[in-house]
Amino acid sequence: MRLYNTLTKSLEEFVPSDGSTVGMYVCGPTVYDHLHIGNVRPVLVFNALRRYLEAFHGWRVVYVQNVTDVDDKLINRAAETGQSVEALARTYTDAYFALQDALGVERPSASPRATEHIGEMVELIARMVDNGSAYVRDGDVYFRVSSVEGYGRLSGRSLDEQEAGSRVEVSDRKENALDFTLWKAAKPGEPDWPSPWGRGRPGWHTECVVMSRKHLGERLDIHAGGNDLIFPHHENEIAQARVTSDKPFFRFWMHNGMLHMGEQEMHKSLGNFRYAYEILEKHEAETVWYFYLSRHYRKPLDFSDEGLDAAAAAVARVRRLLEDADSELRGDDGPPGTGGRDFVRKLAKFRDRYVEVMDDDFNTVGGLGVIQELVNEINRFRAEATGEDRRALREAAALVRELGCPLGLFQRQAAADRGCEAELMDLLVELRGELRRRKEFALGDRIRDRLAEVGIVLKDSPQGTIWTKNAP
Ligand SMILES: [Zn+2]
Repeated sequence: MRLYNTLTKSLEEFVPSDGSTVGMYVCGPTVYDHLHIGNVRPVLVFNALRRYLEAFHGWRVVYVQNVTDVDDKLINRAAETGQSVEALARTYTDAYFALQDALGVERPSASPRATEHIGEMVELIARMVDNGSAYVRDGDVYFRVSSVEGYGRLSGRSLDEQEAGSRVEVSDRKENALDFTLWKAAKPGEPDWPSPWGRGRPGWHTECVVMSRKHLGERLDIHAGGNDLIFPHHENEIAQARVTSDKPFFRFWMHNGMLHMGEQEMHKSLGNFRYAYEILEKHEAETVWYFYLSRHYRKPLDFSDEGLDAAAAAVARVRRLLEDADSELRGDDGPPGTGGRDFVRKLAKFRDRYVEVMDDDFNTVGGLGVIQELVNEINRFRAEATGEDRRALREAAALVRELGCPLGLFQRQAAADRGCEAELMDLLVELRGELRRRKEFALGDRIRDRLAEVGIVLKDSPQGTIWTKNAP
């Protein structure tokens, strides 16, 4: 498989360093607000990549995504709303996981929180101070950019260029305008922790170095995020990694393009953004996956309601075929006739083509194209095939589902094929929702409490109610 590596600016052959397990680290959210639709892109793209590597290459993927739960943004928002930073972080961490569940995204293998790793960050910063790659100024600690060779390689900026560009930011505390903060001295009312330089808190760039090494060990295969993180965040991660270890840091750096709204790049600061949960109020999760993956991950994606409607129509077309095939063949388990078997053999080339395009820098646009062509082919067969040959539709539908799986698509079985329990649970959740809308909360709570007694937990969120089984 070939992937574009931002570090070398070229397509490179990818295989996990130990041959079987891929270590992936994707920079996660700063939990001071709900995710907006731009934040959702890396979540979907890199989860799809994870699923694809597992399902079609047979590699195990250890997928780590951090949660930044202490940061200027959190501190400012907490002050504005009169909450504690901790409570604010908890609220939006829960909302983040509820959104992942509503989208049908698999949970990461680990979701380390910054605040759970402060001691290890202090240790790493102390090592940098000791070896001269960092310096202390009145309780703040800065990274000395001139101490690391090759700074700017990832972002493709030379040090001179960057210095000229950022001269306005020069502060007399820093030796160099590009030196970045590793530790911030405590200010009154802010969360703080002890350190050799006095109480304070770590800067954002250190947490991903510490948490990726801790949770992936030597499996530093792919580090991913939005391309707005290339500079300074990822550049600064690499710089810290270089001065604190002789071992190589991540081999592959992958970055997704930004979302555009109309003519402009979408930015929270410009106000031209929407929250992800708002999209899920109008559209099914599958539509959202289809929409995001219908553009190559490195290109900018134009967000529009028309685009989402087109995605919904494309999903519906495939789903119609799958549901029809399921219902036509219900209770008919026999093997297909000769004509049907020939047809199934012919379908193998679609799987090959799918792998070929997806292996080419994770071209999900091509992957979706192959699925739509496959559906055309199946529809043609369906229009002509008769008798036992029609049983080939079962395998054809299974292939569509197999190819859709990494892309978050077509995993929903026709209602009658789903487990009875899942059907009953959906019904109970629906009834409870109706009761709550009628303000019959006591009855709604009784449903929730009785379900809890049998180990089923209901979780309410802005995206609706989800149910999960407690581990026995
Ligand atoms: Zn990061």
